[in-house]
Amino acid sequence: MSRPLLFLIADTGGGHRAAATAVSHHLGVAHPGEFTVEIVDPFATASPRLLGRTASLYGPLIQHAPWVWGGLFHATNSRAMVRVSELVLHSVDPAIARLMTSLEPAAVVSFHPLLNRAAVRARRRLGLRVPIVTAVTDLVDVHTFWASPDVDLVIVPSPGGLDRCRRNRVPADRLVQVGLPVDAGFTGHDSDPDARRLQRLQLGLDPDRFTVLVCSGADGSGDIERRARVLAGSGLDISLVVICGRNRRAEAALAGLRDRRDRPVVVQGFVTNMAQWMTAADIVVTKAGPGTIAEALCAGLPLLITWFLPGQERGNMEWLIDTGAGRYVPGDAELVDEVAELAVPGSPSLLSMQAAVAQLARPEAAAEVAELIRSVALKRS
Ligand code: UDP
Repeated sequence: MSRPLLFLIADTGGGHRAAATAVSHHLGVAHPGEFTVEIVDPFATASPRLLGRTASLYGPLIQHAPWVWGGLFHATNSRAMVRVSELVLHSVDPAIARLMTSLEPAAVVSFHPLLNRAAVRARRRLGLRVPIVTAVTDLVDVHTFWASPDVDLVIVPSPGGLDRCRRNRVPADRLVQVGLPVDAGFTGHDSDPDARRLQRLQLGLDPDRFTVLVCSGADGSGDIERRARVLAGSGLDISLVVICGRNRRAEAALAGLRDRRDRPVVVQGFVTNMAQWMTAADIVVTKAGPGTIAEALCAGLPLLITWFLPGQERGNMEWLIDTGAGRYVPGDAELVDEVAELAVPGSPSLLSMQAAVAQLARPEAAAEVAELIRSVALKRS
């Protein structure tokens, strides 16, 4: 009989859902019929509605006032402040308790920093013994919220994340470092130019032209419209694809855009086939979101980082620069310069960035995280 698993996420950005989905896909393929995975955003049904609205304010907040987000991140990043914040956050507990009661899951997995402790409180209140796992979806700067010492296992994607959790008193025997789960569609294409050409043809792109993918997380934040226009107006001999995510304003404003060579720019809203676009591209121009970075590394794409969300994404940008897999290009002129350098046929910079990308990619992370969750769930069933 199929066992239920409860994956807790919040649709703040797109990275939490993407990681949960990647793990769920692996379980479905590797162990068909063994588990039924429910991926749920408990903020969406939380009462009072204020909390649900707080989660839906994330998109507009990072779009228009990212410094407020950065301030909140740093101000709450200590054990004392996490305890204070919990006085507000406990209102999500009943929604999680209802899910635990109705689903009777074999394990609960939190893919969001605000949900691990809530799951532990709900478990305590119900007097259950269901195991709880935290799968950290930030890459480097792991906030104290993630480090709940009362869960059964914390899975982190990097040594930096491991260190942060240890300092926040997560016991060593409940911590494991794997990588950020990435869907199988992004993996296995990096060294195959023919697969890239084929993917371009399927998407209606020129198979032989250097292809630049511009995106900026699920919310299309960070002035994606301006950066797309700058590249379109640069006169470079590139194919330009712009994925605006949920940023409908940018999508509408860019619709019908043509570049200086009078070629159409491909403009998309929220896509459900990001893996296809990434595996068709040569480089990605993006904000430093952890999900996009992990996916781009698996797809073999060097990264040009245009901005980062203050707080949890600064470390991602620095890590890419230090390892040589990415460069930081906040200014328009720098962006055009870098793309021009990488688009030159046989560009040595492109080759060295591709080598760094291959070193960092963790295509097996989704499978490893899924197997860890499976073993926790089976142990207690
Ligand atoms: N994404 C998507 N469709 C879009 C835009 C983004 O599926 O149109 C996905 C992207 O592939 C990635 C996630 O949304 O998995 C974005 O995660 P990231 O951590 O980069 O940024 P966030 O949106 O969480 O701030």
